[in-house]
Amino acid sequence: MTDRYGIVGHPVAHSLSPAMHNAAFRALGIEASYEVIDLEPEGFEEGFRALAERGFRGVNVTVPHKESVLSLVDELDPVAKAIGAVNTITFEPLGIAGTNTDADGLARSLEEASVSLAGSKVVVLGAGGAARAAVYGVGIRGSERVTVLARNPAQSEALASSLTAALPCAVEHGSLDEHAKDAFADADLVIQATSATLDRSGDAVVFACSLPFDALPESAVVCDLVYRPRETAVLKAAAARGLRTVDGLGMLLHQATLAFERWTGKVAPIDVMRHALETAL
Ligand code: NDP
Repeated sequence: MTDRYGIVGHPVAHSLSPAMHNAAFRALGIEASYEVIDLEPEGFEEGFRALAERGFRGVNVTVPHKESVLSLVDELDPVAKAIGAVNTITFEPLGIAGTNTDADGLARSLEEASVSLAGSKVVVLGAGGAARAAVYGVGIRGSERVTVLARNPAQSEALASSLTAALPCAVEHGSLDEHAKDAFADADLVIQATSATLDRSGDAVVFACSLPFDALPESAVVCDLVYRPRETAVLKAAAARGLRTVDGLGMLLHQATLAFERWTGKVAPIDVMRHALETAL
């Protein structure tokens, strides 16, 4: 029987994950399929619990279910626990296992772009789920200090205080408006983790123009987790100031390669998955 995998979300039709995983299955000769599974929040638990019986061996979980699925998992790994969200589920004989590959996916993407995290000072913009994964991902890999900035300072404070105990580095917080200039002054890396630079946001250019790129050291790197568009207004503005940039496609690719490896026990065909992703975008 063909093993089934998929991505659970709502809406989820435009997900790029099927292209990556199906290309990887084909390349390795694995008889499996990866499907989109649209589950509305209402009735999510019932729909999710039925997946194993329907032949699914594993699923990715995306918006809006990454947090609500936590309570349905029997075995939660420490990364998912610290981040407070699950993006990869494995249906095992003894129960449902959940992990989060977003943080490691970001770390792999930065490593691939030769961005060194050891001793680094990182600024993360935003206080949503992607920001949480980013703070954890860089904080656990040797950053000396991570500063979380959000337009609502209460949110950056809450994020920082909830992750401090799980991380060996300093986690600071502040207001995007008031503290960006100071935080940028000695930053090695800025990670844009808000949704302000998405295609559909008319404010993307205004948001990019509000960031004090001139305050950054010349050697700083700017990464945007948003990958639609691939070159966001923030990346354009950073590049225009001569700064090195990393787009969000690498994180998307590597959260998928890590999930693939977890499910199949095989080394993911990264180049095949990257090509499928770039073609589907
Ligand atoms: P959330 O909705 O959880 O959080 C969005 C954050 O962006 C909030 O802190 C929100 O602040 C902030 N924000 C939105 N607009 C603005 C603005 N104009 N100025 C300042 N802050 C703003 O989303 P996620 O954290 O899940 O995702 C954020 C982005 O990251 C998404 O657009 C997604 O595409 C991308 N992403 C990429 C991944 C990858 O693999 N590359 C993985 C996951 C996400 P407030 O609460 O005040 O509205």
